[in-house]
This record gives sequence, C-alpha cells and structure tokens, in this order.
Amino acid sequence: GAQSALDKALAYTAERKAFGSKINQFQALQFKLADMETELQAARIFLYAAASKLDRKAADAGKWSAMAKRFVTDIGFDIANQALQLHGGYGYLHDYGIEKLVRDLRVHQILEGTNEIMRVIIARTLIGR
Ligand SMILES: Cc1cc2nc3c(=O)[nH]c(=O)nc-3n(C[C@H](O)[C@H](O)[C@H](O)COP(=O)(O)OP(=O)(O)OC[C@H]3O[C@@H](n4cnc5c(N)ncnc54)[C@H](O)[C@@H]3O)c2cc1C
Repeated sequence: GAQSALDKALAYTAERKAFGSKINQFQALQFKLADMETELQAARIFLYAAASKLDRKAADAGKWSAMAKRFVTDIGFDIANQALQLHGGYGYLHDYGIEKLVRDLRVHQILEGTNEIMRVIIARTLIGR
C-alpha cells in the first residue's frame, strides 16, 4: 500500500504544475519524497529481517515481530498520508485512490494487536518481565 501511494505521489508531482513549474521541482517536496523512499525501504528491510527470524525460529522472533508490526504499520500509514498531502485537494477525493490507501493502511495500526500492545510486548523483553 505504501509503495503504491509513493508511486502515485511520484507520478502526480511530476505532472502537477504550480507557480510555473512542476511541483516535484520544489526542494521541500523533493526532500519529502526522499524521506518517504528511505523510510519505506527501511521498513521493508526490517519486515524481512523479522520474517527471517520467524523462519529460523530465532529466540527473539517474537520481539522482532512486534517491533516490525509496530514500525512497518506506522511507516506505511505515514507514507500514504504524506502521499495524500502531496496530491493536495485531489488526494482527499475518491478519484486518485490515495484516500482509500490511507484508510486501508490506518487499520493495521489497530488490527492483530494494536501498536500500543506491540510496545508492551517489546518493553517486556527489554525489562525482563
Ligand atoms: C476492520 C477490523 C477487522 C478486525 N478483524 C478481526 C478478526 O478477524 N479477528 C479478531 O479477533 N479481531 C478482529 N478485529 C479486532 C481487533 O483485533 C481489535 O480491534 C484490536 O485488537 C484492538 O482491540 P479493541 O478494539 O478492543 O481496543 P481496546 O482494547 O479497547 O483498546 C483501546 C485503545 O487502548 C489501548 N490499550 C488497551 N490496552 C492497553 C495497554 N495495556 N497499554 C496501552 N494501551 C492500551 C489500545 O492500544 C487502543 O489504542 C478487527 C478490527 C477491525 C477494526
């Protein structure tokens, strides 16, 4: 979902013009796109690392799964939400598909154990109870 949102944001900012230039020429938006790509790749690598620990039945697979669930779902939502912002008012409308991605990704911070409960699990492994 986050990759799809970023792809849509890249396409839209390459097309939309404001103040006489494509909006992807504004450095403030380039920095936002750069951060979105960096955070998406970091989340993907973290997810694969946790999945690898599960596959290997590592002793700390539970902690890594909780950390990955918390981190990846937060980052995924943030990226989709920023992609909506980059679409301006159109992002809020049904037509561009971004608002649906934001709604769909939002629930993963709640489903399958909320991200607060993921923090409870992680903290327990750290403080030993
Ligand atoms: C679209 C959707 C589909 C779902 N599908 C399923 C399904 O197929 N099977 C299933 O079993 N469930 C399903 N659920 C339920 C989902 O798992 C729960 O909504 C989720 O676990 C949170 O429980 P709750 O809603 O009772 O929130 P609550 O437990 O009432 O929590 C409310 C808030 O308090 C926080 N909180 C609670 N306890 C603590 C604590 N100790 N420390 C810190 N914060 C805390 C929570 O993180 C949350 O922010 C679904 C939910 C949705 C929205």
